[in-house]
Amino acid sequence: AAKLSGRGRSVVFDPAMRASAVAARELEQELQGALARGELRLAYQPVVDLADDRVTGFEALLRWDSRRLGPVCPSRFVPVAEASGLIEAIGAWVLHEACTAAAAWRAEHGRDLTMAVNVSAVQLTSPHLIGHITDALAASGLPASALVLEVTETALVSDPERASECLAALRALGLRLALDDFGTGYSSLAHLRQFTVDVLKIDRSFVATIGDDGVMPPIVRGMIDLGRTLGLEIVAEGVETETQRRLLVEGSCDSAQGYLFARPLEPADASLLLLATSVRAGA
Ligand code: C2E
Ligand code: MG
Ligand code: MG
Ligand code: MG
Repeated sequence: AAKLSGRGRSVVFDPAMRASAVAARELEQELQGALARGELRLAYQPVVDLADDRVTGFEALLRWDSRRLGPVCPSRFVPVAEASGLIEAIGAWVLHEACTAAAAWRAEHGRDLTMAVNVSAVQLTSPHLIGHITDALAASGLPASALVLEVTETALVSDPERASECLAALRALGLRLALDDFGTGYSSLAHLRQFTVDVLKIDRSFVATIGDDGVMPPIVRGMIDLGRTLGLEIVAEGVETETQRRLLVEGSCDSAQGYLFARPLEPADASLLLLATSVRAGA
């Protein structure tokens, strides 16, 4: 470890810390041109209605296949994109791409599908977000009511008053808001009172506590009941087992996403899934 000493002050650099700082810089440099080089794409994970197992929509999930670094997962590059401001341009592209796909699938399959797009804190408080959304809706022809914006509690806490205003302005456009990863931020209950949302997404760490003993964990039941009481649509994230599905159905959770139903899909596979499910349903 190197020691940088100033006047009566010393900072110790841990080599691991330095490695992660260098990696973040390198990631940022690569990410800078990723959009222009066509290295970014979206995967679409189906959202399934638990009452009848039908696909009601998708969540758009960003993917980066870097020519130099290989595939980089969003948990690594999204924070870098946020810190560097690149998330503005990337986020605008995501909105445009996702709305275009949703509009095409709605037309092609004659279904009232929704599209959920993740929005980070930086985007939420940006003066450009509303413009990016209205542009994406206008260019794609997707009705605002079919768009869901997913925000995390963490994105809201740094400046709750500002966040509240931004959320209200977004809802006024006619789109819906989802509170993503619900339960993982602190002070979740206060947020539900302060921020008006339409959808509650129960984080997969809670869904994972539904084990094979066939008993619904009280906390998950409580989260669903709370959402119900507040009149919210409830989506369970990360549903991986049949027992989890069954208990969520019995607990009257509305919708679910997870590997049990489908992994995030390439656009062509998402379209094929819609085709297969509408043929089966005879619609
Ligand atoms: P998220 O919005 O909570 O997305 C859910 C994550 O859980 C996704 O990870 C998804 O692939 C994963 N997942 C879905 N079903 C299952 C399951 O059954 N089991 C397990 N173990 N995992 C499951 P992913 O795609 O790596 O995305 C991670 C996070 O990156 C997202 O969490 C979201 O916060 C962020 N992200 C992704 N795309 C975007 C984007 O376009 N913009 C922004 N700002 N953030 C994004
Ligand atoms: Mg999400
Ligand atoms: Mg989530
Ligand atoms: Mg999550």
